[in-house]
Amino acid sequence: MTTQPPPVDHELVQAAAHVARTRCRGDNHTMAAAARARDGRIVTAVNAYHFTGGPCAELVLIGTAAAQGAYELDTIVAVGDRERGVVPPCGRCRQVLLDYFPTLKVIVGEGDRIRTVLITDLLPETYSWADHQLDTE
Ligand SMILES: [Zn+2]
Repeated sequence: MTTQPPPVDHELVQAAAHVARTRCRGDNHTMAAAARARDGRIVTAVNAYHFTGGPCAELVLIGTAAAQGAYELDTIVAVGDRERGVVPPCGRCRQVLLDYFPTLKVIVGEGDRIRTVLITDLLPETYSWADHQLDTE
């Protein structure tokens, strides 16, 4: 028996592409992200580039979602400006996303090779932050 990969949430990709096309301006905002919250709604965000380490769109999205009361995200995708298409999360974002949402699905790939993978697939043999905190009891 083969396991089917999760289907691609095309509405989510379109939402991120729309924000990338209409809201990314100049050098400060070059990436858009969209996430499907557990309750079904879509949350979007753009990055806030800065040479000191401004957050990627995925990280801004975590805060944006929380500000709207969406604390559980099911799927996330990032799309670049200038019609760059789907862009996979960077290493920092992979770690943060895994720690916040251990069962998160991530849409990656280009063109007709677009697919949905688990965040754990993007970060094998990962460091788990929660496993290394001192017990507060
Ligand atoms: Zn990132």
